[in-house]
Amino acid sequence: MPIPAAPLTAHLAHLRVFERGWLSSNNVLLHGDDGDPATLIDSGHVAHAEQTLALVRRALRPGQTLGCIVNTHLHSDHCGGNAALVRAFGARIVIPPGDADAVAQWDEDRLTYRLTGQRCERFTADALLRPGESFTVGARTWQAHAAPGHDTHSLILFDDHDGVLISADALWENGFGVVFPELDGVDAFDAVAATLDLIETLGARLVIPGHGAPFNDVPGALRRARARLTAFRSDPTRHARHGIKALAKYHLLEVGSQPLPTLLAWFDATPIARQVWQRLGRPAASPAAWGELLLGELAAQGAVALRAGVVHND
Ligand SMILES: [Zn+2]
Repeated sequence: MPIPAAPLTAHLAHLRVFERGWLSSNNVLLHGDDGDPATLIDSGHVAHAEQTLALVRRALRPGQTLGCIVNTHLHSDHCGGNAALVRAFGARIVIPPGDADAVAQWDEDRLTYRLTGQRCERFTADALLRPGESFTVGARTWQAHAAPGHDTHSLILFDDHDGVLISADALWENGFGVVFPELDGVDAFDAVAATLDLIETLGARLVIPGHGAPFNDVPGALRRARARLTAFRSDPTRHARHGIKALAKYHLLEVGSQPLPTLLAWFDATPIARQVWQRLGRPAASPAAWGELLLGELAAQGAVALRAGVVHND
């Protein structure tokens, strides 16, 4: 559940973080000078679009509107509120350039929604934010940096003045997002390492991650992320299993609970699950049978629970 938007400290009063959970990414509202429209970084999942609207409305100043949405990347948990926010405020949408053609054609294959069994309401991009470019909101300038790894086209945003980094899914307090290109058979662990190195050079004093609470211990987070990356590199199978389990958990977060046969059919029908099952040498008779093993692991970890033939998102 979202927490009320609160200023992080007095000197960051221009910045509001909506900490959302896992189905929806966090959103960051940037206030400009009095009377100027606000800018929102990322917009959550389509299933939470009404919640996102309510959070934005509550955080806007009297008479203020939302002028712009900047997406760090276009996974369904980061841009699912775009269409609803455009309807409500007429906000302009700014996206990383690597996804521009796929958005223009709304190609759900290239946007990976079909691959990963996810959904997102269609939207149109108004402008691109390229790595190396920056944008200004009020007295603060946010520099966009390429942050490939979790997503090839992802951006992270850094305000040098306050040392604030909006890190998307490139760095969390404990790890980073699934390295999706790796699930798709594309080497990307080196890109993750390079992105972590880049983050270290920025010298951020506060990180607002795509999921989880903002944090100050950036060296500690980098240390944990690198340890995780080392473990994945030494055993890519572990990462692949982790990725498919994360997707299954994410699917359950959206649907709440599902009869076991329906959820197992999701493993059969979701292309990335089938691809990974094949790449790992068919570790079970079918993607569904493999999914049942993975669900067993999730249940052992307490991440899901099976009661009366229904899988619950515990
Ligand atoms: Zn993501």
